[in-house]
Amino acid sequence: MNTFFIEQFGCRATQADGAAIERQLREQGSILARDSSTADVVVLNTCTVTAAADAQARDAIRKIHAANPAARILVTGCYAQRAPEEIAALPGVSFVVGNSHKPQIPRLLHSIAHLQQPSRSETQFAGVELAPPTRSATQDFPHQVAPILSGNVFDLTEVLVAPVLGGEGNHTRPTLKIQDGCNSRCSFCVIPFVRGRSRSLPPETVLSEIRRLSGSGFREIVLSGINLGTYGRDLRPRAGFLDLLRRILEETSVERLRISSIEPLDVTQDLIDFFASDDRIAPHFHMPLQSASDRILAAMHRWYRAEHYSRRVELIHDRLPNAAIGADVITGFPGESDADHVATLDFIAARPFTYLHVFSFSLRPGTKAATLSGQLPGHRIKTRARELRSLADSKSAAFRRSQIGRRLRVLTLGRDPADDPDLTPALSENYLQVSLRAAFPPNQFVDATIASETGKHMLAEPLGTTAFCGN
Ligand code: SF4
Repeated sequence: MNTFFIEQFGCRATQADGAAIERQLREQGSILARDSSTADVVVLNTCTVTAAADAQARDAIRKIHAANPAARILVTGCYAQRAPEEIAALPGVSFVVGNSHKPQIPRLLHSIAHLQQPSRSETQFAGVELAPPTRSATQDFPHQVAPILSGNVFDLTEVLVAPVLGGEGNHTRPTLKIQDGCNSRCSFCVIPFVRGRSRSLPPETVLSEIRRLSGSGFREIVLSGINLGTYGRDLRPRAGFLDLLRRILEETSVERLRISSIEPLDVTQDLIDFFASDDRIAPHFHMPLQSASDRILAAMHRWYRAEHYSRRVELIHDRLPNAAIGADVITGFPGESDADHVATLDFIAARPFTYLHVFSFSLRPGTKAATLSGQLPGHRIKTRARELRSLADSKSAAFRRSQIGRRLRVLTLGRDPADDPDLTPALSENYLQVSLRAAFPPNQFVDATIASETGKHMLAEPLGTTAFCGN
């Protein structure tokens, strides 16, 4: 019987795909190895959002091959979709499977389970056509290249479903991906090319997964997707994201639901009212901003302008003054002037953001932004990123201090063995990281008063725990 190991990279959506592959491989009898050095098959689930992510994947392939030369390495994910020939030519790679064909990985691995050696020249496996090595790849690279399973059509690719456990919060807060792909064409973004058009998990499947997780004792569930606001527009009958949230609260007993990220124009008054109406949904809005210069937003092919975004922040802050409001910001987009950068800094400084994710622009082959003139030198992008991160730190600190004296319900998380045994890490509904002054097991709701600041965490005094009321 085959053993396998999955190395994960990238965003929650990619990790959700990895979790689904793991579930499928286990269901067909494969055994999860302790690590990649002992596995018969290593699946690398890659990201390609930046050049650094590509380099990280190539480095991992090299290291796995050096440590375990007998392993078959199957590379999948967004990098495998974007540049399959490049990956197929790397030593040690046995298969390259793009996102378009990810659901076929279990069948492919099942069919090769009995083979002793990788068969690099085969172009037919498991009834699935594998592309033969491309001419360019064989010319550019002296050794033989691995077969490729990838295509441009994603429409028949189902959304892979399996909750992701891990990351911050250890095994306490599962993430459930309910939507994949994106119909937009932001000029910097490679995601629509590597994940295809928007596709959604049917509401009944979402509900049954949430019931299953709640029934297993999980108290907070995070819904994720590439573009969550477009959830359900592809389904027949059509479904809507807000309707899905309503149904989840009405038809399941999940105690806390959080959404991972949503585009600003999908944050409507109705959605905000809904968030304000039920404390089972975490008051936490992560809305990508990218820039607050209208000139740069237009060049990015973003469909809102700074004033539209600002209106959403005002609406949230009016109804939910203690909500977490986070944003992604890209600095150093081609043509971004000092004035554009200052406009973004001023916009953020004047609004109640509670945290930011700052990204340096990374040129992605195949995107419109890669062809634009006015690419900025790396040192200028670094300086701007530093300024934005420093502003983000001061906004986060101001938010943390504003919470002192408030009573919040926090969810306890797992603790590292090296952590202070008298403190328990926990997360509030409004995404405040808290150290509870007492020892609690993970996955407990504790009412606590926020007492003081300690670094980037808040110290909190526990008032009492709440009982689990699952299905
Ligand atoms: S909305 Fe824009 S940035 Fe987000 S995945 Fe779609 S194309 Fe990329």
